[in-house]
Amino acid sequence: MDLKTLFREDILQLVPYSSARDEFSGQARRGAGEAPILLDANENAFDPNGRAGLNRYPDPHQKVLKEEIARWKEISPEQIFLGNGSDEAIDLLIRASCRPFEDEIMIFPPTYGMYAVQARIQGVGIREVLLTPDFQLDPEAALAALTPRTRLLFVCSPNNPTGNLIDREAIATLLRRFSGLVVVDEAYLDFAEAPGWLGELERYPNLVIMQTFSKARGLAGIRLGMAFAHPEIIGVLNKIKFPYNVNVLTQKAALKSLRQPETYRQTVREILRQRRFLEQALPAIPAVQRVYPSRANFLLVQFRQARKVFQYLRHQGIIVRDRSRLPGCQGCLRITVGTPEENQRLIQILQTMELEP
Ligand SMILES: *Cc1c(COP(=O)(O)O)cnc(C)c1O
Repeated sequence: MDLKTLFREDILQLVPYSSARDEFSGQARRGAGEAPILLDANENAFDPNGRAGLNRYPDPHQKVLKEEIARWKEISPEQIFLGNGSDEAIDLLIRASCRPFEDEIMIFPPTYGMYAVQARIQGVGIREVLLTPDFQLDPEAALAALTPRTRLLFVCSPNNPTGNLIDREAIATLLRRFSGLVVVDEAYLDFAEAPGWLGELERYPNLVIMQTFSKARGLAGIRLGMAFAHPEIIGVLNKIKFPYNVNVLTQKAALKSLRQPETYRQTVREILRQRRFLEQALPAIPAVQRVYPSRANFLLVQFRQARKVFQYLRHQGIIVRDRSRLPGCQGCLRITVGTPEENQRLIQILQTMELEP
């Protein structure tokens, strides 16, 4: 596969902005141990806020952070894109591959809402192929719905809001038979206790994997998303991103988290324990019709009178997500796994709720 065919011709031709920190990165040759004198980026050299480093622009290539992530994921730094949340990766992938008012993406509802929103903002069409009633992807239906203008597919696995993994063979079929980019969004993979797609990067040059610091790493506030793909694909994303898209504070916080792997593993274990608690407690509640099995840090739960349950919970100070208007999700609320106290309170409130006859 010629990877050049995956991208807009004008994007491939584009000469990117070259920032001061592009043109000078690395060490200056003043005596050993001496810091370089940086008079190239119009920064304030006095650091008036007294926060070492914040007066300087961040590393536009996030070199140190990428090396650390490369070690963790056992891939090469050239296979990593870092962005201002996964949202940035979604935006740039659409931007790089789809011509506005010409091309389209394909999504598999019910799924994450950002793919369609980002496409719409860019004037890119959206082709929808619904998941089956058990929330699986039908690869033949997807392939049949492709048009010459379909450039990019977004598969979310584990899927938000349904919580299930998408069948590997279905995704592999798309990777083999679709000649555009196939994005597998693994935002929730840490909770799946199953292998993801990183090991398949060498086999499928059109595969892009997205992961994030927002969920299992507990760092939604720093906005750091990752995309993993062939170096040529990563190169295109790097070319069109804002030069300083990942700020200094974010890079620092991410590095700190990566250097405490045990804390991360521990919270994932605790979230899995709490998920099991909710999976066991929820079916005993009269208002609950069905608890869908979950490989993520949330549960999709079908209720009798879902709207009433939603409002009742809100009145009691518990906010969940109403997903009942999504296809295949009638009566469903999405409930994030909380702390033990939060989960117990949720169950207790649901138990005492009175249903209409
Ligand atoms: C939460 C979530 C993300 C993470 O987005 P960020 O911008 O990295 O916070 C990505 N994809 C899906 C499906 C999600 O649910």
